[in-house]
Amino acid sequence: MSEVLRNDIFRFSSELPVKQGFYRLCKFKPENPQFFLPNLLVTKAKSDPQLPVYFTDSVFSKELFDSIEDGDIGIVNNGNMLRVILSRRANHNTVLVTERCNNSCLFCSQPPKTGNDDWLLSQSALAIASFSLNGVVGVSGGEPLLYGDDFLHFIDFIIENSPGTALHVLTNGRKFSDVSFTRQMKERSDKIKITFGIPLYSSRSSVHDYLVGSEGAFDETVRGLINAGNSGINIELRIIPTQANYTELDDIIEFTGRVFSNINQISLMGLESIGWARKNWSSIFVEHDSYSEKLLSAVETAHRAGIPLTIFNYPLCHLPERAWGFATQSISDWKNYYPKECDECTQKSSCAGYFSSSKGRFHQPPSDLPPGLDTTVS
Ligand code: SF4
Repeated sequence: MSEVLRNDIFRFSSELPVKQGFYRLCKFKPENPQFFLPNLLVTKAKSDPQLPVYFTDSVFSKELFDSIEDGDIGIVNNGNMLRVILSRRANHNTVLVTERCNNSCLFCSQPPKTGNDDWLLSQSALAIASFSLNGVVGVSGGEPLLYGDDFLHFIDFIIENSPGTALHVLTNGRKFSDVSFTRQMKERSDKIKITFGIPLYSSRSSVHDYLVGSEGAFDETVRGLINAGNSGINIELRIIPTQANYTELDDIIEFTGRVFSNINQISLMGLESIGWARKNWSSIFVEHDSYSEKLLSAVETAHRAGIPLTIFNYPLCHLPERAWGFATQSISDWKNYYPKECDECTQKSSCAGYFSSSKGRFHQPPSDLPPGLDTTVS
């Protein structure tokens, strides 16, 4: 099997174990005196043990050195392992701000935990400010908006310290049922580019609540979507087709068009075989090719509703050709791979490919493309 497009986990050598935590990764002497995070010098080979004071520690790894840009952000675990979380070479950058959640989705990729992990929010704020990207950084959980006022302060910190960074926040939207919170978020959304990705899995409460594992979630999410949209907050509405809802994609989109405002995009998301999706796979996954007509109908319904629709995480050869123009290369490079069958495919450069987690029993092999669009190059 092929490897992921960009490795994000590295083992390194150092004089002594490096303390666990977030670091700004440096290849050179830092110029900006405002670091936000401790500076970790990364070298190709063992360096002078006498470190200048502006470096907290140093590690050496040729592979890590060659994989990062100066100023990328990493987390050190276990003394000699580092994960690059914000990378200037990545196709998407995301910080995880909590593992707590008030939903328990059957396909959750990051199964919720209950312990206090507030430090993730403060460290993520420092990481975003230190990275200072003139682009989009994703914020995910768990459920980020469980932080309430602390999340508003997090946004304030980014507005003040990294004004060029836009945020895309993944949330179940339930917190927006709180009108006061929504109003305060709207005030901030006038100062920063911010979009909220909110999933709605059905126009029926029973189906949505079943998929998110929480009774009453539908009511709060719908009220949240109404409040957020009416206040002018940017919303991307997300739908994951599963066995429970793939027949009603049209209904969800129709409902969205009639009830909510300020939906900038509807995203149809292919399931990722990770977390709880793996144990529930047989009861939730639907073969992509088996509902091609439903996908095409969803595209047409979104068009009629005047809402742009994008298809995420589907290999092109598992989509009807008429839907290809709506598909995007959505999978983050550190978990994206193309099996060897793709090597000669004429569509590879525009295809999302596969999640690396699908290797093995969750893999749906590439299909034959329509005649005239053969995967082999003549
Ligand atoms: S065969 Fe082509 S269309 Fe199918 S997954 Fe591979 S690159 Fe994509």
